Amino acid sequence: MDLGIKGKWALVCGASKGLGFGCAQALVQEGVNVLIVARGNLVLEQAAARLAIDAQHSGSTVLYCAQDITTEAGRSAVFALLRDFDIVVTNAGGPPPGDFHDWERADWIKALDSNMLTPFELIKATVDGMAERGFGRIINITSSAVKAPIDALGLSSGARCGLTGFVAGAARSKLASRGVTMNNLLPGAFDTDRLKANYQAAAQRSGEPVELLTRRARQNIPAQRFGTAAEFGAICAFLCSQQAGYINGQNILADGGAFPGVF
Ligand code: NAD
Repeated sequence: MDLGIKGKWALVCGASKGLGFGCAQALVQEGVNVLIVARGNLVLEQAAARLAIDAQHSGSTVLYCAQDITTEAGRSAVFALLRDFDIVVTNAGGPPPGDFHDWERADWIKALDSNMLTPFELIKATVDGMAERGFGRIINITSSAVKAPIDALGLSSGARCGLTGFVAGAARSKLASRGVTMNNLLPGAFDTDRLKANYQAAAQRSGEPVELLTRRARQNIPAQRFGTAAEFGAICAFLCSQQAGYINGQNILADGGAFPGVF
């Protein structure tokens, strides 16, 4: 299926690896031009080189910008490179797990900055231009923990629920009649460095072997496996498509069936 977005420009954040990279790759394969952002220059450069292989087939342009997207300076540097994005995929590292008794105001501010206020700033900076041009797609990578919060990931679900509430309103603003959609994509367990680090930390806390924890986690998912970044990217690309123009203000869960509820 031709998604009808060839030649559009996408900003994909947190895209040197993992889910962000999966989104960037799927968009490049659709002929979308991408500007990818992550903090470390070397890994980001390598990611851009991998995307350039796909871009040879699709005719896309791949740019990269090594910045911390959660800072104002980082966002300014990105927008100095390019301003008029048709697609924005917001994403940054998730807050660390822990016990809520230990979280101080500074921990909450950091989580809110990364996982709520950064997407908000990126949305604010880009949606009016999208509306003027009559097409726009915002995809926020959030987490299944928004629907089914996990005790130890309270900083993550707290901040991301704030973003989810904001997006639910903004998506239904006047922008909706001008071709702009905003949706959140909620990953369950996807096989990325972040997931591996989470299980390693859990293994250290519990004293159990990491292989055992990982196997048990897989067995608790109806699909009996973790998702792949490529699968995640394909969903993202579809939500960015012309065909998805009537999907707006939604929280799309991709978790192999792990969430047990009806809705
Ligand atoms: P990952 O660690 O594999 O990749 C994260 C990417 O974001 C990397 O490219 C990293 O360099 C970049 N990044 C991190 N902080 C950044 C910053 N401040 N500025 C710019 N780039 C930054 O992680 P992932 O598994 O791809 O997860 C992506 C997001 O999805 C995270 O917020 C994570 O909490 C969330 N999530 C992931 C899963 C999962 O199973 N993988 C599940 C639920 C939620």
